[in-house]
Amino acid sequence: MKKVIFHVDVNSAFLSWEACYRIHHLGGKQDLRQLVSAVGGDQEKRHGIILAKSIPAKKYHIQTGETVVSAKEKCPDLVLVPPNYDLYNRSSKALIKLLSEYTDKIEQYSIDEAFLDMTGCCQDPITTAYEIKNRVHAELGFTVNIGVSENKLLAKMASDFTKPDHVHTLWKSEMSEKMWHLPVGDLFYVGHASLYKLKKLGFHTIGELAAMDPAILRAHMKSQGILIWQYANGIDESAVISSPPPAKGYGNSLTTPYDVMDCETARQY
Ligand SMILES: [Mg+2]
Repeated sequence: MKKVIFHVDVNSAFLSWEACYRIHHLGGKQDLRQLVSAVGGDQEKRHGIILAKSIPAKKYHIQTGETVVSAKEKCPDLVLVPPNYDLYNRSSKALIKLLSEYTDKIEQYSIDEAFLDMTGCCQDPITTAYEIKNRVHAELGFTVNIGVSENKLLAKMASDFTKPDHVHTLWKSEMSEKMWHLPVGDLFYVGHASLYKLKKLGFHTIGELAAMDPAILRAHMKSQGILIWQYANGIDESAVISSPPPAKGYGNSLTTPYDVMDCETARQY
């Protein structure tokens, strides 16, 4: 049976969850998602950091991980709201509960992302993905992107295409059309350090990487080079590992825009 994997990713999670809370529970009239807004670390401290931003804020090139001071310089009218981790945990749990109605093979990947093994669970994956996306919006108030493919890697790449509130497929047969023209930095697992190496080796697109002799990548980047080459070719055999949702907290990760060298900054991240 052909494998079917979904990757569900909440759009601007922290900001969306705060926006929903303000509208549905506090009776707020303004929707933070429509404003140039962001969730920021401690705003009293000069070194507070942007944890999430609205889509309008992206137009000002405000980036997750940059300092509040720098974001304010880009847009002095930026609306900043403090983080609310209890709310994020509740919202995350509500999402996983809804997703659990569709399969018991769910791997929570971060506080706002999950992989679903939908193999044999739906007649038409696209129809089911739209149903899930629309139910999340109608019942929980926030939007998600859903990537659909035959493995986790490609499903994750697909969910990152146009946002918000979209279903995208990225089957292996669609890689040349939908993935290979993308810059190498868009490939999963390629962080700042790998990107630097790959650029020095002259790679610009994922397709160029995919077409490369993997032995050359291994020579320059060891086993990591092989893994990157496999990802560029859509090769990923890893299974969706369902585990009970962690009782205490959630992990999330981001790549810092610069090297963090001191403890205080690291703690804020
Ligand atoms: Mg997300």
